[in-house]
Amino acid sequence: MAFPHDRYRRLRRTEALRRLVAETRLSPADFVYPIFVSELVSQPTPITAMPGIHNYPVKAAAQEAARAFKLGIPAVILFGTPKQKDATGSAALKRDGVIQQAVQEIKSLTPEICVVTDVCMCEYTDHGHCGVIKDGAVDNDATIELLALQAVSHAKAGADIVAPSDMMDGRVAAIRRGLDEEGLEERAIMSYAAKYCSAFYGPFREAAGSAPQFGNRRGYQMDPPNAREALKEIAADIEEGADIVMVKPALAYLDIISKAKDEFDVPLAAFNVSGEYSMVKLAAREGIADEKRLTLEIVTAIKRAGADIIISYHAPEIAEWLG
Ligand SMILES: [Zn+2]
Repeated sequence: MAFPHDRYRRLRRTEALRRLVAETRLSPADFVYPIFVSELVSQPTPITAMPGIHNYPVKAAAQEAARAFKLGIPAVILFGTPKQKDATGSAALKRDGVIQQAVQEIKSLTPEICVVTDVCMCEYTDHGHCGVIKDGAVDNDATIELLALQAVSHAKAGADIVAPSDMMDGRVAAIRRGLDEEGLEERAIMSYAAKYCSAFYGPFREAAGSAPQFGNRRGYQMDPPNAREALKEIAADIEEGADIVMVKPALAYLDIISKAKDEFDVPLAAFNVSGEYSMVKLAAREGIADEKRLTLEIVTAIKRAGADIIISYHAPEIAEWLG
């Protein structure tokens, strides 16, 4: 049967009808809220490239996490900036490091919240690369040992989920082994499984001060033209023990999210990254887009593509809009 028997407009006629037949529904529970914690600031400090987002000192980060949790957002993911950086990122492993302190502070203020920590070296190394350098390039096998130590340190501080974002080979297995050896077998791993080398990360680098001082990350992050390779990366991470896998960025990679959803049975996260966030904010500021509609359309598309979990700087405002 076709027109005039079928008329698709019948179910689009009113707001209530459209709500009734919506195939994709957003909830605050879909979201993880990223929070920047910095030892370099003594009060919340705006990040110019990301209107509305701040670098927080530890105590204020805990208050920001509590605010998100009260809005119905179940989880936060933490990114840290240490006071001192060095060649091997040693501040990442300190028991009283910025993230370790933040996890404890967040958990003591809001014990029920799920705390995810970003596990990588680039925020802690003076050269800004995601691991230790040997002969001018990041040394894979030395780096994954450090990442395992960093993950254990976060988990000991109370992190529920550790999230390696470095894109070294074999790091999920190394982290799983490290956690298990320390009796932390119940802490989960969310791997940045398909992380592309993307220009959409630009604003984040201002926030975390993590731009590489030489070269770029193309030697370890994925090349944007590749989709089959993403599925191999994701399969490898699940095989190594990832409990949740992630595609990053989200908006320009909806096809990857969709393929991953079809292929794998573990929870799938998508990172609605800084550049995606800032584009919306700047377009709204210029008056060329309706901010609320644009934001909700983007995150709905990410969920429709197949993401079970959406990591987004918009999370608190979305939770407020959803009421
Ligand atoms: Zn990194």
